[in-house]
Amino acid sequence: MSATQQIRIQGGTLVTIEGRRAMDIEVLDGRLATIAEAGTLPGIRPPGGAPASVEVIDATGLYVLPGLIDGHVHLRDPGDGTAEDIGSGTAAAVAGGVTTVLDMPNTDPPTDDAARVDAKLRRADAVAHCDLGVLGLVDDRTLDRLEAMAEAGAVGFKAFLGPTTGGMAPPSESGLRAAMTIIARLGMRLAVHAEDATLVEAATTEVRASGRTDPLVHPDRRPVAAEVAAIDRVGAVAVDTGCAVHVVHLTSADGLAAIERWRARGADITCEVSANHVLLGAEDMAAIGSRMQMNPPVRRRAEGHATALLEGLADGRVTMIASDHAPHPASHKPDDPWVAHSGAVGVETSLQLFLDRVVGAGILTLERLVKATSAAPARVWGLSTRMGALTPGLEANLVLVDPARPWTIDDDTLHGRARLTPFRGWSGQGAPVLTMLRGRVVMRDGEPVGEPIGRGIRPSR
Ligand SMILES: [Zn+2]
Repeated sequence: MSATQQIRIQGGTLVTIEGRRAMDIEVLDGRLATIAEAGTLPGIRPPGGAPASVEVIDATGLYVLPGLIDGHVHLRDPGDGTAEDIGSGTAAAVAGGVTTVLDMPNTDPPTDDAARVDAKLRRADAVAHCDLGVLGLVDDRTLDRLEAMAEAGAVGFKAFLGPTTGGMAPPSESGLRAAMTIIARLGMRLAVHAEDATLVEAATTEVRASGRTDPLVHPDRRPVAAEVAAIDRVGAVAVDTGCAVHVVHLTSADGLAAIERWRARGADITCEVSANHVLLGAEDMAAIGSRMQMNPPVRRRAEGHATALLEGLADGRVTMIASDHAPHPASHKPDDPWVAHSGAVGVETSLQLFLDRVVGAGILTLERLVKATSAAPARVWGLSTRMGALTPGLEANLVLVDPARPWTIDDDTLHGRARLTPFRGWSGQGAPVLTMLRGRVVMRDGEPVGEPIGRGIRPSR
């Protein structure tokens, strides 16, 4: 039986969660077929005749990583298209070594019923450069649609517990509890934007009354206490209902401690951090401005939260890395913290930033980075039978990283539509140079290539 498509990736160093080794990879028809000690793969011509195409990719001097799964992006599609759409956002993703993104439901209109889940997945089939999964919205109006959204292909669900972009209404106490009971029965997971609405509103009233307009207004309006209160609220219901929970963009040592407390009580709570919250400090806001305004906010470096989150990432208490890619056009980002919209781009720059500033700084091993960007999100979102590791039988989703490649981040080097990166001017070393999705090269030398072959992810239930 001859394969229709055969690829060899030779000479590279495979990095998995167990370690790194010089290995060669054979890809057949979009799947990882054989992974063997360097130089030991049998002859290229399979028994029974030559395949229709053979491609050899020389990975000498490069690391071979599983394709990244970025579990938290906002591609603003459907929307007005000025900030991003699924085509532009997934082009940025593959440029950053990402082969799967999970899109958040606060689009316009929101992903709040089965038809909208299906429409977003079909749009991905048509225009995406990487694969795309969908989270369905949880609020008091969607309770009777959760099961249908799951059947339509939602990977999970999301609730916004505090006010943020899109003005999604936080669920009531009874709504949250009912939703978590349903999601537990479905065997799925609820992602939560963990900021308590009441505490954010109270702090906002206080800061507004002071007449302040300095850049630190934003973090002071959305205190750490609001994150802890929201985690405690959802943690208690998680214990009661058995619903699995995922805390997105965790920002504080206190929030991580709260998660650990609920884990000790038996709750299944995973969490993620973004490059923004571990590499930036609120002290930088005067220099960087509204580009780094986001919800929840970047905390003051002096408070030590970023250090605590990185320690959690290194020892596994922080489950994964996600970008919270949340583009806005320049018109949304005046340098007035009372007017600027919240959210920053990041899907394209997350890997290189973590490679240089975190792995390169000796804070995290490359193996642990691989776990936090592929195996962990695949497990948490139920995708492990398809992706998330370099294992024969899985989809051939991988990224080649050149550890010596120098980079400088600038708006003009990015591939999304709105490009106001908070990391403008940052430089470093180590970057993705080739991204492969299901056996097809979708990025080479930093540039997305070929037709968009991404698909909507529809888990079989
Ligand atoms: Zn987000």
